[in-house]
Amino acid sequence: MKKDCMEHMAAFPGGTIEELLPTKKLMKDPLDPDIAYRLVLDELLDEGVARQNLATFCQTYMEPEATRLMSLTLEKNAIDKSEYPQTAQLEMRCVNIIADLWHARKDERFIGTSTVGSSEACMLGGMAMKFRWRENAASHGLDVNARKPNLVISAGYQVCWEKFCVYWDIELRRVPMKWDRLSLDLEKVMDYVDEYTIGIVGIQGNTYTGKLDDIQGLDRLVEAHNKTTPYKVYIHVDGASGGMFTPFCGPNRPWDFRLKNVVSINTSGHKYGLVYPGVGWILWRDEKFLPKELVFDVSYLGGDMPTMAINFSRSASHIIGQYYNFSRMGFDGYRVVHEKTRKIAMYIAKELKELGIFELLNDGDEMPIVCWKLKADENRKWNLYDLADRIRMSGWQVPAYPLPQDLETIVIQRAVIRADFSRQLAIHFIDDFRRAVKELDEARILPGPATDKGVYGFTH
Ligand SMILES: *Cc1c(COP(=O)(O)O)cnc(C)c1O
Repeated sequence: MKKDCMEHMAAFPGGTIEELLPTKKLMKDPLDPDIAYRLVLDELLDEGVARQNLATFCQTYMEPEATRLMSLTLEKNAIDKSEYPQTAQLEMRCVNIIADLWHARKDERFIGTSTVGSSEACMLGGMAMKFRWRENAASHGLDVNARKPNLVISAGYQVCWEKFCVYWDIELRRVPMKWDRLSLDLEKVMDYVDEYTIGIVGIQGNTYTGKLDDIQGLDRLVEAHNKTTPYKVYIHVDGASGGMFTPFCGPNRPWDFRLKNVVSINTSGHKYGLVYPGVGWILWRDEKFLPKELVFDVSYLGGDMPTMAINFSRSASHIIGQYYNFSRMGFDGYRVVHEKTRKIAMYIAKELKELGIFELLNDGDEMPIVCWKLKADENRKWNLYDLADRIRMSGWQVPAYPLPQDLETIVIQRAVIRADFSRQLAIHFIDDFRRAVKELDEARILPGPATDKGVYGFTH
């Protein structure tokens, strides 16, 4: 056989490849690129189909034009504004577009940046709150070192806020959620606020249940509070999921810069901004809310450009992907896609309800998140963890987990519906789901006893 024919055979999927991949240290010799490609791809074979993963809020499909554009721009470094000034322009255009979606006011000077995701954005938002609080509190004579500053948020927070508080030495004050609302408890929230409070976080789509905090109500409470004290507090909205959903579709309640005390908002471009992970955004309604200490200059076309990201180098390809989506879809494109996603979520909720054994906690009406718990039934021998395992056999990932603090005895299951979930796929899912329930009902050998698997919410 001719030699290049033999080489070609090596790329045949199967047993013809003898080479192994490194696990603990580098191999001495290089591999051919096609062999390395094949082997690494094969390593990822059993990870499941991302689109069947209903645990994640993160985007699992982009158009081929978008992925081509992104792969052609991987080498661009987002921080290198002087080498890639046009890329920097696209980022600024995205910030402008998002500011418009969030109703930034013409008489204020919004400022914002891309980030790796909402976690980085929340760190920035949190730091800005801390620095502002310290300056204001000290100027009114408070001993800012006498106690730890604190941050007030509903117990349904995403783990990034706990990280923020650990990293920056802040007390996390969790407002327990009430069973009937499963979002920020407005009757209690102001009890947690004092002169050491750096700010209150409202969540536009909490990760446990997808419920929206009543930010308008919170704004009213904050407005009244601020009239009584020089130690004013402001609101940061964690709109990781809702920030790119509700502007297009969903309840027409102000939650954004239309509300006076909302000073900063973050979102994940890679959730309902419809970009692959990782891109996020944070905007402040006016640059006066972003303390100068957090702004650094990088050189840009012979001058300086302010930046406030925590990370330095990273590929700009996701920013470009975001800009592609904005350009390609326009307002109505996003609206139609999100509206469809919401309808499918509501369809799934309706079908699950009809099974008669679940109590729906979110029927997808505001955000396309469906979650449910089992109705009590002494004769049932299985729980939602068993159901999550069972449905996994058909490839679906639908996590079960306990609710946070004070409701932790309640186990729920959640499905996040995304833009790549068609009606046909929804029917398929419901069929598989129904079958899984039936199989569990009829099973004679049951999985082990109910255990709290200690899952940390389900946070992505
Ligand atoms: C997903 C999520 C985050 C974290 O976002 P990343 O973009 O994954 O870093 C923060 N807050 C909320 C409410 C979220 O849903």
